[in-house]
Amino acid sequence: MDLLQKLDETNSLTKEEIVRLLKNMTAEKKEKLFDLALKTRTRYYGNRVFMRGLIEISNYCRRNCLYCGIRGMNANAERYRLSESEILECCQDGYNLGYRTFVLQSGEDMWYTKEILVGLVTRIKQLFPDAAVTLSIGERDIATYDALYKAGADRFLLRHETASRELYEKLHPGMSYDDRMGILRKLKQIGYQVGAGFMVGLPGQKEEHLAEDLLFLKEFQPEMIGIGPFIPHSETPLKEEKGGTVEDTLVLVAFSRLLVPEALIPATTALGTLSPTGREQALMAGANVVMPNLTPTLFREKYDLYENKICTGDEPAHCRSCIERRINSTGSIVDLGRGDNVRFIPEKISPDKMIGCN
Ligand code: SAM
Repeated sequence: MDLLQKLDETNSLTKEEIVRLLKNMTAEKKEKLFDLALKTRTRYYGNRVFMRGLIEISNYCRRNCLYCGIRGMNANAERYRLSESEILECCQDGYNLGYRTFVLQSGEDMWYTKEILVGLVTRIKQLFPDAAVTLSIGERDIATYDALYKAGADRFLLRHETASRELYEKLHPGMSYDDRMGILRKLKQIGYQVGAGFMVGLPGQKEEHLAEDLLFLKEFQPEMIGIGPFIPHSETPLKEEKGGTVEDTLVLVAFSRLLVPEALIPATTALGTLSPTGREQALMAGANVVMPNLTPTLFREKYDLYENKICTGDEPAHCRSCIERRINSTGSIVDLGRGDNVRFIPEKISPDKMIGCN
């Protein structure tokens, strides 16, 4: 059987088959792959694209990931941290614009203790009970993840970055591959909708490594999958590296849709940074989420993970309408609801998590 047909019909392939497909991706195969991915997305989620309001709450970071512009050792990064009231104000602005998911993202900033974070999540859920809270704040102890879930956090994004132990260890000095993978599994056990994901075009990354990423996703079945091109940053040890391409990233997005059909997959900002139509192309290749920025413009430029990040000067209301136009241009419509993973539909989850699900 043709490998693409097999992928579509069985939602699985062997490592060897994935590598073979990745190494022989003709324009014609790509077109078929994207078409199958879009059809699968439509089967599970219709033509709706979910909007999340992203709030970049701090760019302080204790880590030193070799690729990341906000790594702790970048002495030229201008650091900022939003207070609880500033974060709540962003949520209020987002809520008024219709958002019903807030994604709080930061470097690994330990200033936000367990208590501060629990207080923050509790307050957001009190003020906006029909909104979902997604956290993307990196590695913490399990007691903190537990407490945040009990406080009402619904989802947690923690990209695995690369499923290759060897690459992971090269890129993340002082961090542990087993810790990262162990935390992802623990987050699932706790009850979060969990997001994993990886970068495409990392130095030393080969088709075999990407196949391992895809097979990890297939086995782990995350509720969300974030995939973006690696984009070099001038203040990092990887500044001279080439970086990933839109074309390659789209292929990996489409594969992910077919291997994990129920996943919520964002059309990432990194794709929009490399190409003006990068996010639209991702939506046509199986992605179904966008994450416009609600961070106050004053701080946006400082959250520079990679060079030339887009939309740093745009007000939330502008981002909201700009993204809506882009979504509509792909034949999809905006869904401003919570946008839970279909596996988390109300009858399947505990009553205290059901408020506001749609
Ligand atoms: N600290 C949290 C964590 O570890 O999950 C969340 C923030 S982290 C800055 C968000 C994501 O940005 C990372 O998971 C990584 O994949 C991505 N990222 C960082 N530097 C990047 C770069 N140079 N190019 C593309 N993506 C990058």
